[in-house]
Amino acid sequence: MKYGNFINGEWKLSPNDSTFKSINPADPEEIIGEFALGNKQDVIEAYEAAEKAFEIWSKTPAPKRGEILLKAAQLMKEKKEELSLLESREMGKVLVEARGDVQEAIDITEYMAGEGRRLFGFTTPSELKNKFAMTIRKPVGVVGLITPWNFPIAIPAWKIMAALICGNTIVFKPSSDTPFCAIELVKILSEAGIPPGVVNLVTGSGKDVGETITTHPGIRAISFTGSRNTGEHILKIGGIKKIGLELGGKNVIIVMEDADIKLAVDGIIWGAFGTTGQRCTACSRLLVQDTIQKKLESKLIEKARSLIIGPGYEIGTEMGPLINNNALEKSIRYTSIGQDEGAKIIYGGTKLESKGFFFQPTIFNEVSIDMRIAQEEIFGPILSVISFEKLNQAIDYANSVDYGLSSSIYTNDINIAFKAIEEIEAGITYVNSSTIGSEVHLPFGGVKKTGNGTREGGIEGINEFSETKTVYIDYSGKLQKAQIDLDNQ
Ligand code: NAD
Repeated sequence: MKYGNFINGEWKLSPNDSTFKSINPADPEEIIGEFALGNKQDVIEAYEAAEKAFEIWSKTPAPKRGEILLKAAQLMKEKKEELSLLESREMGKVLVEARGDVQEAIDITEYMAGEGRRLFGFTTPSELKNKFAMTIRKPVGVVGLITPWNFPIAIPAWKIMAALICGNTIVFKPSSDTPFCAIELVKILSEAGIPPGVVNLVTGSGKDVGETITTHPGIRAISFTGSRNTGEHILKIGGIKKIGLELGGKNVIIVMEDADIKLAVDGIIWGAFGTTGQRCTACSRLLVQDTIQKKLESKLIEKARSLIIGPGYEIGTEMGPLINNNALEKSIRYTSIGQDEGAKIIYGGTKLESKGFFFQPTIFNEVSIDMRIAQEEIFGPILSVISFEKLNQAIDYANSVDYGLSSSIYTNDINIAFKAIEEIEAGITYVNSSTIGSEVHLPFGGVKKTGNGTREGGIEGINEFSETKTVYIDYSGKLQKAQIDLDNQ
């Protein structure tokens, strides 16, 4: 089956257009579908449709925009199982996790629908008499959204719903590994009543579609989630625009000797091997106090060994495949890098004998913080264990990477917990839970090279997709000069 781009409310694929295929990573011979290999002209048409639609959509009252979003949330609820199964087949994640992804999309859609009745600015006293001061929010304009494959419904929804409720119109480019999930989401929006031209979808390569969106002079903002290399490139070529970057992570769990070990083991396994390690918040570094290292490692090995690996949509599966062959090769490569650097594999380390892109959950110990496996994002099911003696050392180790997305500490000592909250350089710190998982009404994003300061979710998502206008109303009937006429007040 062939699927086109969605431009100005119409699905478009001319008979001679080039296409690309999306496959099932658990069974690469299974083709999920063929999708339009979009080009520069498609992006230009999508932009023109979005620019035209902006006139109407930006002036539609925000609560009305919210009503359409609520309808979309309702449709997603009705189709939750169908969407989750599709996601599991196209992206590979375990069905329960795919359901979580769809639920996250529903949650953000409902949250942003509610924002339609807030979108608060603020009022504040003026320094001058007979003068009123306030702020209001305005949409940015046509915005470009570029997304990865690992949360193929939730991440586009985080961006799309925030952009829509603020009154922006959209040119959206999903990952070429998960175009079908994006198409289903856009279909739902259209069915919910989003007018033609408000959301436009162009599938295709990062080079042709992504770069054309990024450099288009009429597109006023880019919201990008993906790898650090692509993010840096987008920042370079984007020019003067509002650019939001949500990039990689090298997330850490610290386990103190006083921690509940069983709780910690469950969290580490979930953080390191959930979504096959392919979450930006995945735990890839475990810092363990040396007094409990042996005990913790043996429990981790036992748990890792018991994980059921297979197609995500099969009942009982606990870990699915990697997204594609490149990702599989990357995990194989980093396993060799770790061994060459002197780290020791204590569990896993090999590709599974299967036609899918399956790799064992893998645990290294004897890792030092400067090794590449302890510094670089692998995005696969590979965990490095590093031991420490004292909390200060653990915090130094935690902060020794370029990234700063998620972090976690297991301890029953409140003083230790607060010190970690205070000193770990990360956008997210969990206490006594894993590094992964986020709630849509809280900010999500990272520090250092994980991003450029934007946050998604909640009100911070609204900040990303709105401009603040400051309004002064002087009703004194005379010229009053700020900072100058203060003595006459
Ligand atoms: P990627 O950078 O390869 O691709 C992301 C998107 O950018 C895709 O749609 C891709 O087609 C597009 N793209 C590629 N080259 C481009 C270019 N030159 N110009 C414009 N667009 C281009 O990332 P990926 O492999 O899809 O996703 C995995 C990465 O995403 C990991 O690094 C992960 O940590 C990160 N991620 C971050 C978050 C977060 O919120 N911080 C969430 C999920 C994933």
